[in-house]
Amino acid sequence: MRAVVLRENHLSIENVPDPVAHPGSVVLEVAACGICGTDHSIYRNRLLPDGAILGHEFAGTVIEVGRGVSDWVPGDRATVLPVPFCGRCELCLTGKQNLCRFGLTNTMGCGGDPGGLAQFAAAPVTSLRRLPSSVDAKRGAVVEPLAVALHAVNLGDVHPGTRVGIMGLGPLGLFAGMIARSHGGLTFGMDVRESRVDCAHQLGLGAFNSEDQADERIRDLTNGGPDVVIEASGRPESIERAARLARVGGRVVMVASYHAPAEIKPGRWVTRGISLLPSIAYTPHEFDAALDMIATGRIDVGPLVDATTPLGEIQAVFDRFDTQSDAIKVLVDPGL
Ligand SMILES: [Zn+2]
Ligand SMILES: [Zn+2]
Repeated sequence: MRAVVLRENHLSIENVPDPVAHPGSVVLEVAACGICGTDHSIYRNRLLPDGAILGHEFAGTVIEVGRGVSDWVPGDRATVLPVPFCGRCELCLTGKQNLCRFGLTNTMGCGGDPGGLAQFAAAPVTSLRRLPSSVDAKRGAVVEPLAVALHAVNLGDVHPGTRVGIMGLGPLGLFAGMIARSHGGLTFGMDVRESRVDCAHQLGLGAFNSEDQADERIRDLTNGGPDVVIEASGRPESIERAARLARVGGRVVMVASYHAPAEIKPGRWVTRGISLLPSIAYTPHEFDAALDMIATGRIDVGPLVDATTPLGEIQAVFDRFDTQSDAIKVLVDPGL
């Protein structure tokens, strides 16, 4: 099969052996695989060895089932929960599966089994979630990042009337905004790129250009600052800015990938009573809830998953990742 393989200085499209369906597993033909900041930082910071196949946001059709698999047949469509929660550690047993060490270090496409940037991928049945007919493969592939956003919103404790600031209006920030709004929150986003601000407006979310007095305007509209600021930009300098933006006694949720040190003023956090809530991954329950939000139409991800990219353009996708101006989720269709 054709797959995107991580090599020293680039991503290479190579012919590799097809995966096999081991007992308890299936092989999926991948129909859509999303690319996110995590993939980009694995590539840029060489966090995985040569030969790795990335892709942890994907959906497809079962083409082969392994021994002992009775409830899946070829032709069934599924999205994949790529984190193999161990189910036995203290974190898994206390509802904090998103922090399971085994799960995070063995996530498919992120250090665990090969991911979905390939024509085919093997997956254990425990990771499969059936796609209802209302959910096409592109929407199926964004269940994973939607679950990441849902965990951040849940940590932020968003209720009807909660004022929510969102820094960074890429797919993750926009997903968080849409979920916060569906929880009854009042959302105020900001981004340095005008096209992303426009995208937020088209989705009905309040948003400003970060360089256009966004903080002052949001503080004014929220009467003193948001109750919760979701930092989804991944810019280290945004963390302190979030603490300044949040209301006194408010909270800051950090949900992006950070790979550079950040300067913070602890005195400000202490005297303003700002809580810092780091958010990574999701619980299995949140993953299922994210699928449900898409299936029931409660969250319409349609406008963000319009286009797919062929496998052959993967290097260009990664090269322009930092400068990409629109907020559309990049989805690869390995069949193209
Ligand atoms: Zn991701
Ligand atoms: Zn665990």
